[in-house]
Amino acid sequence: MLALQPDLDHPLTGPFWRAAARGELALPACQRCQCLVWYPRALCPHCGGELHWRPLSGRGHLAAYTVVQRPLLAAFAPFSPYVCALVALEEEPRVRLVSQVVDVDPGQLACDMPLAVTFRELAPDGGAPYLAPLFTRRQGSQQGGV
Ligand SMILES: [Zn+2]
Repeated sequence: MLALQPDLDHPLTGPFWRAAARGELALPACQRCQCLVWYPRALCPHCGGELHWRPLSGRGHLAAYTVVQRPLLAAFAPFSPYVCALVALEEEPRVRLVSQVVDVDPGQLACDMPLAVTFRELAPDGGAPYLAPLFTRRQGSQQGGV
């Protein structure tokens, strides 16, 4: 059976989930060239520099999305339909995070919509609950605008 729990002790992804548990969105950044790196890797893919985890603003824009009506995994059926999104992060829009958009009617979604991170407790398949960084429409933004 597929484990749907984040591994907080995993050397590459554990810091992401431990930051989420504190209500922070953090990604690895290169100490040499300062670029953000996603997915996590041992070293910077651009210059080979060491990476450290950097807290981010949690702001971004909707780069792409789809509304999942019938999830591939049965464990996600209770959440359906849900919006699977590619979020371009404010600090480095070329870095895009796969997440979900919540609390927005799917008919109101539009690419480039300003988003803000929100932390939600998930417990798929009845597992132990954990906080996950999801996204919602940024306060004060107009629908679909930038
Ligand atoms: Zn680098």
